[in-house]
Amino acid sequence: MDKNFEIHLKERSLERLSSISKSDIHSHAGRGGKVDYISSWAKAEITQPPRKFESLNHMQSWYSDNIKIYCPGLQGHLKRWEAAFAQASKDNITVLALSFAASEIDFVGGMESFIKILKEYNQQFAPNTTFLPELTFDRACDTEDEFSKLDEILSYDFFKSVDICCDEFAQPIRNFKKIFRKAKEYSLRLKAHVGEFGSADDVMEAVEELELNEVHHGIAAAESNYIMKWLADHKIQLNICPSSNVMLGIVESYAVHPIRKIYHAGIPVTINTDDLLIFNQTISQEYLNLYTANLMTAEELNKVREIGLKEASYYVE
Ligand SMILES: [Zn+2]
Repeated sequence: MDKNFEIHLKERSLERLSSISKSDIHSHAGRGGKVDYISSWAKAEITQPPRKFESLNHMQSWYSDNIKIYCPGLQGHLKRWEAAFAQASKDNITVLALSFAASEIDFVGGMESFIKILKEYNQQFAPNTTFLPELTFDRACDTEDEFSKLDEILSYDFFKSVDICCDEFAQPIRNFKKIFRKAKEYSLRLKAHVGEFGSADDVMEAVEELELNEVHHGIAAAESNYIMKWLADHKIQLNICPSSNVMLGIVESYAVHPIRKIYHAGIPVTINTDDLLIFNQTISQEYLNLYTANLMTAEELNKVREIGLKEASYYVE
């Protein structure tokens, strides 16, 4: 294990933390870049996000009014993807999962051009990064409609994982069973956003119903020792985004974030950005925030970093 990461955490040096290899495996592609990358391209002064958002809707409207307004349309969308790869290179993110909705494939004219664009961005802006594309479904989607497009999309053998995102309460998770069985047939890794706004029971239900390998967020699991033990026994990984949780008011502060409890329950956890263009904290900052808040030790955070880097090995054929 590279002990330099622990040394740089203790030095509280963002610059040196940036030089160490890390992962980001919960990042929505169109929001995965850094604000300054977009503002210098758009020649616009972008305002800082508020310290806390009142709700997911407040966050979405803030994003539309303050960020998306400067990078609209196809050109703006592509620039935001590019920004995500540029950021991976800048912060030494050597394992990067970015999630895309099927509508984004249509937006660039279908799977062939979608794959071409992303392979070029990976090569040009982050050549040392292992890129793991993830196909995400809006929890409110028409699951039959999405299912009908799935074989065509997955036949390209490009996506490595599937996910369900957005409003956790939009419809029962079991409605996605057919989609997830199909994704499993294609040997994709199965993930879903759950236990962010929902409960510990929701996390367990989703993992059981969809046979998830990983949960995006999942922090509500900390409410139940029984469910934490169950997740640990089944080695279900939680991809946690501390700044997202704090800024959306789900967690009061870094100092009381449940990641510590979840980690000590023996559940594999990773630290991720979620929406860097909104929450504005890089992966290096995310680690430093938890260290500075005295939530976890440098040794523990280094172990978390190692868990994240292992993500790439799950996809080796
Ligand atoms: Zn997310």
